[in-house]
Amino acid sequence: MAVSSESGTLFVVATPIGNLEDITLRALRVLKEADLIAAEDTRVTRKLLAHFDIHTPLTSYHQHTEARKVEWIVEQVAEGRRVALVSDAGTPGISDPGDELITACIEAGLDVVVIPGPSAVIATLVASGLPARRFAFEGFLPRAAGERRARLEALRAEERTLLFYEAPSRVLATLEAICQVLGDRRVAVAREMTKRFEEVVRGRASEVLEHFREHPPQGEFVLVVGGATPGEAPPPAEPAVSPEEDVAERVAAGMSERDAIRAVATERHLPRREVYAAWLQHKRGG
Ligand code: SAM
Repeated sequence: MAVSSESGTLFVVATPIGNLEDITLRALRVLKEADLIAAEDTRVTRKLLAHFDIHTPLTSYHQHTEARKVEWIVEQVAEGRRVALVSDAGTPGISDPGDELITACIEAGLDVVVIPGPSAVIATLVASGLPARRFAFEGFLPRAAGERRARLEALRAEERTLLFYEAPSRVLATLEAICQVLGDRRVAVAREMTKRFEEVVRGRASEVLEHFREHPPQGEFVLVVGGATPGEAPPPAEPAVSPEEDVAERVAAGMSERDAIRAVATERHLPRREVYAAWLQHKRGG
């Protein structure tokens, strides 16, 4: 597309991830001076704008936005308007809508300017205490247990510090999978960064897992996992036998059911009740 000298700019504007003071002076000016703000959720952004007394018109741009709407926003920029793109929190494009519109503007030869600011991944990385020189951000792991595990398997030899976004309802399952697949590495789990209940729990994966079993996860989370040690033999793959078969073998060898369940749960970093339930089903022939 030919770009007229009159063409405008797409500003990609980072907004706070919790604490409203975390917005830059430049972001406030750009949001105020823009002709239009394209927002992931206009209700969320309206609250932010009201707080800062900004009255720029809003339009929605989210993950289900149709191609026609993307084209329309690109046209606005091409016609000379200043359009600011924001997401609900943090930096647009980072596990948030943005890249499609950014790519479309770049392909149309239009100016794209980023107004940098908060992102949960960067805040957590530096707070984690794990090496921050080289890191790999994985976004959200797949929800299905098998796919999540396969993704972690693929990361086993990764030496860079790993970062994952995670929903509170899946934090325990993901920590369990990390213990099983990556081994008992150093981890840091950040919760509610920049907000009232901000905390970072650091330790070995099994210790942090134990902590969150005792304090059920609530709020927004980022998980940080130490990379593989160079030359480290990959951690042993999940034993071929299932936890219940493992219990059965130990019981057959003379261990009490109670001790066998406890040992299997500890060695495999699984909740004891889970091993117990699997064992009961196994005994019933399930
Ligand atoms: N674009 C955002 C950014 O730059 O951080 C991320 C958006 S993503 C849809 C939302 C996820 O980011 C949450 O599920 C959580 O994993 C993480 N997150 C966002 N805000 C957070 C906070 N204040 N504390 C911890 N994690 C946060």
